[in-house]
Order: sequence, then C-alpha cells, then structure tokens
Amino acid sequence: MPNGLGCKENSKEKIEEIIMSFQIAIDGPVAAGKGTVARLVASRLGFLYVDTGAMYRASALLGKQKGIDLNNEAALSQEISHSEMMLRNPLLSEQDGRQITVLLNGEDVSWMIRTEEMSRGASIVAQYAEVRKELVKKQQRIAQTTHVVMEGRDITFRVLPDAQMKIYLDASVETRAKRRHQELLSRGVDTAYEQVYKDIEDRDARDMGRKVDPLHVVEGSWVLDTTNLTIEDVVELIATKAKELGAV
Ligand code: C5P
Repeated sequence: MPNGLGCKENSKEKIEEIIMSFQIAIDGPVAAGKGTVARLVASRLGFLYVDTGAMYRASALLGKQKGIDLNNEAALSQEISHSEMMLRNPLLSEQDGRQITVLLNGEDVSWMIRTEEMSRGASIVAQYAEVRKELVKKQQRIAQTTHVVMEGRDITFRVLPDAQMKIYLDASVETRAKRRHQELLSRGVDTAYEQVYKDIEDRDARDMGRKVDPLHVVEGSWVLDTTNLTIEDVVELIATKAKELGAV
C-alpha cells in the first residue's frame, strides 16, 4: 500500500521526469540545412521538432495582419504576448511539402510565412529585445516538458543553455545560396541566384551583427560544416551521438 512518503517520492520522480526532457539545440546561419536536419533527427528519435524561425516569421506576419509597423517594437511585442503560436508535425491532411505546421491564433499560416517578404520581416523583428523575450518564453515552455530538437539562432546560449546537445550547423555562403535558390525554384519561385546570394549575406549580417543575442558559436557546441556532407550524413552523425548521450 503506498504510504505518504512513497506518494511524495513518486510525484518528485514525476516532476524530475518532466523537467529532464532531452534537448538538442541547433543554431546556425540561414539555409545551413538546420530545418531539414532537425526535422529528420526529431523524427528518428521520436522527439518534437521546433522551428523557432517560424515563430519570428509568424511575428512578422502578425504585424502585417494587425497593421502594426514592423519598427514599432512595443506594439508588436505586446501583440505577440497575446497571440497563440502553435507548432506541430503536419497531420496526414497537411502533407503538402511543408516541414511543420504553424498555427497563428488558430489560423494555418504554414505557407504564408515562407515568402521572401516574411523572411526579411522576420530578421527585422528578430532584432528587438522585447520581441525576442516573448518568443524565448514560448520556446522554453515547449521544451520544458517535451523532448525536442529545437533550431534557430540563439537556442544553444539563450533558449536552452542547459541542453544536453548543442550543435552549430554551418556551410559556405555559396553552398547555402545554391540550396536556397534550388528550394525556391522547386516551389515555383523564380528569383535570380544573385538576389538569393545577396539576401543571405544581408541576413547573415543582421543575425550576426544585431545587438541582442547575435548568432555565434557557443563554447561546448559541436560545429558541423555541412558544405561537403549530405543531409543523411548529418542526420546520422547527430542521431548516433544523441543515442550515445542517452537520448533514447
Ligand atoms: O530560420 P528562418 O530563416 O526561418 O528564420 C527567420 C529569421 O528569424 C532569421 O533570419 C533570424 O533573423 C530570425 N531568428 C532568430 N532567432 C531564432 C530563429 C530565427 O533571430 N531563434
């Protein structure tokens, strides 16, 4: 028969189980392959894939929908704090090439946030301390109770500084521009390669040069240069290491 102490210990164990989620944190510049790699690693390990860039994109879209000037940091961060952003693996009925389903206040915005306008908007709103604070809170809440592979630009040092695995995924600008250009073409978006290259350079400069939490390699991060690796190689490397560290 369970005694009081036993009950207490049980609930303590439960709390520890909940808090000790296994966290794989991935940072890196735009188009380094973080999204695809993180999604595949998550699926291999049975973890939740969290695309934090989608939340910055959704914030830019939110500003547009609500008629808020993207330079109005206070109004935008307030609107974000009152908004619900939900990320989930695509349902069967949503399998249309998307990596993740994003619901903004209940509306499916998964594709609306994938335009170049929202890419630029996201990297603008990502410069604001208040916006980052709101989104980091939402991200930490998700990772507290669920095993995650979370990717972004500040995951290894701001969102999940105690993650069991920290990775910095990198590749040359040329490789990233080629990948992004191919991806846009495959979606029927006909943008010149030179424009894609320049956009990537601009976004790198903003991500690595912003005052609040600039993208950087944190001590203890595993730097993986994917220039000469296939997606499968990278997924295999990460999943194997995660298992060694007790992920599953
Ligand atoms: O990864 P993705 O290109 O979708 O991210 C969109 C933008 O959001 C990035 O250019 C970056 O400026 C910003 N971002 C960020 N911190 C994160 C994730 C994304 O600043 N954790």
